[in-house]
Amino acid sequence: MKIGFIGLGNMGAPMAANLAKEGHEVVGFDVAGATAEGVSNAASAAAAAEGSDVVITMLPNGAILRSVANDVIPAMKPGAVLLDCSTVDVQSARDVAAQAAEAGLGALDAPVSGGIGGAAGGTLTFMVGGSDAAFATAKPLFDIMGQKAVHCGESGNGQAAKICNNMILGVTMIGTCEAFALADKLGLSREAMFDVVSTSSGYSWSMNAYCPSPGVGPTSPADNDYNPGFAAELMLKDLRLSQQAAEAADADTPMGQAATALYTEFVENEDGQGRDFSAMLPRFEKRGRN
Ligand code: NAD
Repeated sequence: MKIGFIGLGNMGAPMAANLAKEGHEVVGFDVAGATAEGVSNAASAAAAAEGSDVVITMLPNGAILRSVANDVIPAMKPGAVLLDCSTVDVQSARDVAAQAAEAGLGALDAPVSGGIGGAAGGTLTFMVGGSDAAFATAKPLFDIMGQKAVHCGESGNGQAAKICNNMILGVTMIGTCEAFALADKLGLSREAMFDVVSTSSGYSWSMNAYCPSPGVGPTSPADNDYNPGFAAELMLKDLRLSQQAAEAADADTPMGQAATALYTEFVENEDGQGRDFSAMLPRFEKRGRN
């Protein structure tokens, strides 16, 4: 396939390189001049989109996605698919998909989980919203860039799945960290805490696979001085998107709201910026009740 790839950042560059490595013709564009291995560079987003069967975007947020969509949609050939892999708000995903459909194009929102390691290793999970036909076109590309692609229904549903998942993740990580800090103060060893909870009803991915305590459980960013991993500010971005969506849909999400407030405090007023999101544990360790 001929693929346009817009946004060659931490995630986009390795994803584009993996597509090129498998023999696809990939033409990239990044406003910062970033490049990727095996990918030729175009002078603009529209130039990268011209003649492409699929145009992939991997961008920071919904406002930038909307602006790039305005540039690339008129340049795309009829029947081509606009595949956005960024994490953006549900409404931007739905609006861009509608704009693409009006222009006779397919559109998918396909945010990812798996981070930079998953992007480099081609082991991302894609959560996909859009038509069956567009999904079928993009499937071979998902198979190269990832290990799993779940078709979640209509446009915007991929973003909905992503932010609901990450709202659960933010809440369980905070719950796990505050429970560890409480267990410390009650005189329980970290190892005993892990052994019990990881095999009891308090278990979760945060405890079992990404344990926020150094020295117990499988190796995680906690064992590397809380270097990310998944940075606290990226967790905050996803939590804010979840609360924006909850407000628009009139959904009551008190735990998501509390997690958003805590990560805001951690990233903006404390030392959370640039640290892994599991560094909530040393934060709680240092604190008392007030
Ligand atoms: P990044 O900031 O490294 O990359 C974004 C790239 O987009 C940058 O290179 C930037 O120059 C480029 N860009 C910005 N505006 C542009 C424009 N108008 N035209 C062309 N290029 C433009 O971010 P990232 O870590 O690669 O993340 C990309 C997306 O993936 C985000 O939505 C993020 O939330 C999501 N995501 C990231 C991770 C992660 O671990 N980094 C994990 C899952 C999802």
